[in-house]
Amino acid sequence: MSRFLSPRFATLEAYTPGEQPRDQQYIKLNTNESPYPPSPEVFWRLNTDEIKRLNLYPDPEGKVLKEKLAKLYGVGKENIFLSNGSDDILNFAFMAFCDSERGAVFPEISYGFYPVYADLYHVPHAKIPLKEDFSIDYQDYCNTNKMVVIANPNAPTGMEIGLFEIEEILKSNPNHLVLIDEAYVDFGGTSAVGLVEKYPNLLVSMTYSKSRSMAGARLGFAIASTEIIGDLEKIKFSTNPYNINRLTLVAGEAAVDSDAYYKENAKKIIATREKTVKALKDLGFIVLDSKANFIFAKNPKISGGDFYAGLKKKGVLVRHFEKEKIRDFVRITIGTEEQMKVLLQKTREVLADR
Ligand code: PMP
Repeated sequence: MSRFLSPRFATLEAYTPGEQPRDQQYIKLNTNESPYPPSPEVFWRLNTDEIKRLNLYPDPEGKVLKEKLAKLYGVGKENIFLSNGSDDILNFAFMAFCDSERGAVFPEISYGFYPVYADLYHVPHAKIPLKEDFSIDYQDYCNTNKMVVIANPNAPTGMEIGLFEIEEILKSNPNHLVLIDEAYVDFGGTSAVGLVEKYPNLLVSMTYSKSRSMAGARLGFAIASTEIIGDLEKIKFSTNPYNINRLTLVAGEAAVDSDAYYKENAKKIIATREKTVKALKDLGFIVLDSKANFIFAKNPKISGGDFYAGLKKKGVLVRHFEKEKIRDFVRITIGTEEQMKVLLQKTREVLADR
């Protein structure tokens, strides 16, 4: 730490991203990326004249992409906010809607960035424990008098809560924002986007990083009332108006135009997930009920840390959280059928090595 850092960041603990190894080729099942490439349309469009226009700033409004997304989700373009990955939306939401008086609540076991943003902006926050079975008890989020943030499906559990529960949360917190983080919704979850018209306190965030195979391009979007979107635009235009580069905007448009390709990939991933869950259960694993492109699993015969390390030695990278209540588990991203076959083979070997 330099002597120039503001004391208000002195104790801030930054988010730790999943490993992105450069040293060796792994079967990479640790950061919930899609195993499939972007659609052919994305390749074609990136190969066109857009590259020659990189000398020019991108459209800070992202008008064309907003129009396409609005049509796809059945909302107005003024209900869409575009961002540099959906982390940007979370960042802006904590910045815009919270402060030392306006607190936040989120599940104790959830996306690790929520408490980091809360600390960054000195937002008092409560981490609400999950139930014994790792599900979210929606009643814990009713009448909170704070901003509510829920990943649905949740990470790293993969479990979802229903729209009835979300509506109860929305109804009981009319004066506070309810942010539903739908990063993983396309793998069998239920989206709350249909509730945006009815609830002016709802903000739904989504990403291109998972079902749309574009984690490397950094693109996210949010859907909410025009007023909430206006607030987010104010923050964006007060920090970095050009937060989405030209190539990413074009790739994002092409991805909407080839939506069927991504829906097909999501179906494949769901089918692979179900097969993998069954195979792991046959090997004695306990696997939580996932609606995401990852599963959260543990085996009474091996600790989460040893299983993670054993797989890594054999060239398969999964994610382990050294955290109370979940340290027995590992989170495994669903890859291709072939990758999951290798995962299962290496899992058998790790268990046999013991
Ligand atoms: N929300 C959740 C629940 C996530 O797990 C992640 C990333 N892993 C994100 C948001 C952010 O993803 P991105 O910034 O790539 O859109």
